[in-house]
Amino acid sequence: MREFVERADVCVVGGGVVGLTLARALARRKRHVVLVERGACGAEASWAAGGMLAPQSEADASDPFFALACASRDAYPAFAAALLAETGVDIELDRTGTLYLAFDEQDEAEIERRYAWQTSAELAVEYLTATQARALEPQLSTRVRAALLFPRDGQVENRRLVAALKRTLEVYGVRVFEQTQAEALRVERGRIVGIETARGFVGADAFVIACGAWSSLVPFEFTPARDESHMNDESIVPTVEPVRGQMLCFAARPALTQHVLYSPRGYLVPRRDGRMLAGSTSERAGFTRAVTAAGLQAITTHALEIAPAVADLPLLDAWSGLRPHAASDWPVLGASSEVPNLFYAVGHYRNGILLAPHTADLLAELIVTHNMPRALAPFAPAPPRRSLYSVG
Ligand SMILES: Cc1cc2nc3c(=O)[nH]c(=O)nc-3n(C[C@H](O)[C@H](O)[C@H](O)COP(=O)(O)OP(=O)(O)OC[C@H]3O[C@@H](n4cnc5c(N)ncnc54)[C@H](O)[C@@H]3O)c2cc1C
Repeated sequence: MREFVERADVCVVGGGVVGLTLARALARRKRHVVLVERGACGAEASWAAGGMLAPQSEADASDPFFALACASRDAYPAFAAALLAETGVDIELDRTGTLYLAFDEQDEAEIERRYAWQTSAELAVEYLTATQARALEPQLSTRVRAALLFPRDGQVENRRLVAALKRTLEVYGVRVFEQTQAEALRVERGRIVGIETARGFVGADAFVIACGAWSSLVPFEFTPARDESHMNDESIVPTVEPVRGQMLCFAARPALTQHVLYSPRGYLVPRRDGRMLAGSTSERAGFTRAVTAAGLQAITTHALEIAPAVADLPLLDAWSGLRPHAASDWPVLGASSEVPNLFYAVGHYRNGILLAPHTADLLAELIVTHNMPRALAPFAPAPPRRSLYSVG
């Protein structure tokens, strides 16, 4: 007889912003949810992020990903207000807008293209001359040639966000097991029956993998045993790899800038408490979370290009995080096409903070009603290349 440490309607594996937000969305739909987190909730990529909610700033076309990202940005005011009411935590949603800057001819051509397609799509965007941009942000480099202002993009304090999410799960009665690694997903007769953890066996009707950069690594144990060569099939386990991003944090009192400032090479994010974040790198360096001399150098160079006064700011901190990158570049959201009660919420890559509220709502809808929301269809796990159970 198996020893259950917990039995729930849904078990969410991974307590980053994606797993936490999904657990809340499921609990709001009256599901009994258990969340299993290997370390402390929200201590990986979701802690390391810049918190920018900026779907328009870097978008070059309208596609399903852009639509998902804009819908999630637009869900933030209600989401932030609900979290404040549920927990008393202000996640510092900032809707001042972001500025995307051009420093050379190539950058200018890029922002002109972006301005053209976004205005023709009737999106909110303003073209600023160098003088207009510097009037808005006096600390901008005199080398700036032009800028786009995206008045609907913004930022959130992602560390306060994960703290609020963790607290709200208590309010909703979600059982959260921290320091509890999912060691194996047990599959019996084609369905997941539970996960093995050091604490014991966690059973549920449905399971969601939300393990960020580690999502491809949770092992399966099959009864009856089967041909393991299938495990390379994307339909069973989407391939997610870590892309390291390093970040610097300066003390900026009084604030150097009011807006999130982007260039094609880097960004500055002013926080309400007087910190100024500067990011970032994109490195395939495996699972090592190191801050390197090359990373510091690149980020500093790009920050100084935006605002030379950064040179005089005291450096407070530096860190790195592992972005979860899926092979398609887009997140993988939905039911496994091989194992009916297994779901994926993985591969949010550079936009997990932005995407969390809307993707959580869509996925919770799918898990609870079994109806696939249309907006999720483009992100479904790959269909099977061969069947898991008819080996041959
Ligand atoms: C430097 C940097 C800047 C970024 N800036 C932004 C930004 O400005 N805006 C934005 O929207 N996004 C940004 N991102 C991306 C964003 O941080 C990620 O997309 C998002 O945090 C992913 O959330 P997640 O929950 O999938 O992963 P994570 O936050 O990494 O959480 C995954 C969790 O799963 C747990 N886990 C792993 N394996 C197991 C297991 N076997 N059992 C139990 N638990 C397990 C881990 O311990 C971890 O807590 C940035 C990322 C970085 C690194």
